Amino acid sequence: MRFVDYVTITVRSGGGGAGCVAFRREKFVPRGGPSGGDGGSGGSVILEGDANVHTLMDLRYNRHHFAPKGAPGEGSRRSGKDGEDLVLRVPPGTTARALDGGAVLGEVRVAGDRLVLVRGGRGGRGNAFFKSSTNQAPRHSQPGEPGQEQRVALELRLLADVGLVGLPNAGKSTLVASVSAAKPRIADYPFTTLVPTPGVVYVEEFSSFVIADIPGIIKGAHRGKGLGLRFLKHIERNSVLLFVIPVTSHDVRKEYDTLLGELSAFDAKILSKPRCIVFSKADLLPEPEREAWLKSRSPLIPDVERVLLCSAVAGYGIDALKRTLWTLVEHEKRERAQPGGRGHGR
Ligand code: GDP
Ligand code: MG
Repeated sequence: MRFVDYVTITVRSGGGGAGCVAFRREKFVPRGGPSGGDGGSGGSVILEGDANVHTLMDLRYNRHHFAPKGAPGEGSRRSGKDGEDLVLRVPPGTTARALDGGAVLGEVRVAGDRLVLVRGGRGGRGNAFFKSSTNQAPRHSQPGEPGQEQRVALELRLLADVGLVGLPNAGKSTLVASVSAAKPRIADYPFTTLVPTPGVVYVEEFSSFVIADIPGIIKGAHRGKGLGLRFLKHIERNSVLLFVIPVTSHDVRKEYDTLLGELSAFDAKILSKPRCIVFSKADLLPEPEREAWLKSRSPLIPDVERVLLCSAVAGYGIDALKRTLWTLVEHEKRERAQPGGRGHGR
């Protein structure tokens, strides 16, 4: 499933420092020459690809990025200090477009790639620079070049690693919200989630994957009923499928078969993806009964990698779910990377 993460920011580079007008004044030098140094250059605003950054979320909270100015030049031919560049870390795959005019500024393709959004102004020359045979004592210097301001749109295509499959009200949106930083809209009736909401799940500081809530699949979705069909097209691309079935289901096997039937009627290739089941809303079972409940239901579900029980509301089983998904996603990525692996060409 592909999503476009989008954010607009305002960036401004630092202006260059002014050149200095100064003359040497030393004890035994009667007529000191010009000694004004050059101004430092202003800082640029630069995008840099970072594999540990997964969304443009951070930039959404801080939309103004101004690099510092260069310092003015000083006497004794001392140049002013350059303003430091302001480096914004973004996920590889981020493209930048100028908002006014729409020109594509470029793309950060891989980690370490750099893209200058606005370049810092050059520092002005000090008067020492202008000394010549005809002008031994220039009294002028240059001002620094001004910084530039630009509004920039950043875009990132996200690829989900885990897609949630379940009937309406199974608890998918709530689950995504509880494992990730994403906050999808949650409501009590079907089809409120018109657009799937991706979330980034952190397992450890630098280990993460993207999970997406896919709007309810109803029986007959593959024949065009409801919104399911439109989204089924995207499920194909998810690397791991997580079936969500609430513990309140009257017949978990039947519910699982319904979901599987919808998926495979749409595209049988989907069945080659690793599947995991999570029984949701575990808080609705008395705590002492949960283990036994899981033990009795697990054997009913064939061909899945793992069967888990959790409650998004009570925070029960959430850590185990994250780790299980992480392990499956990593395994799947390694498989796909191999030529002829089961995911090859998808
Ligand atoms: P979705 O349609 O699959 O995305 O389901 P939602 O996440 O929107 O949840 C449907 C309903 O189930 C909502 O009323 C939620 O409050 C409720 N719900 C979701 N997760 C839990 C849970 O862990 N425990 C309980 N008791 N209710 C839940
Ligand atoms: Mg939902």
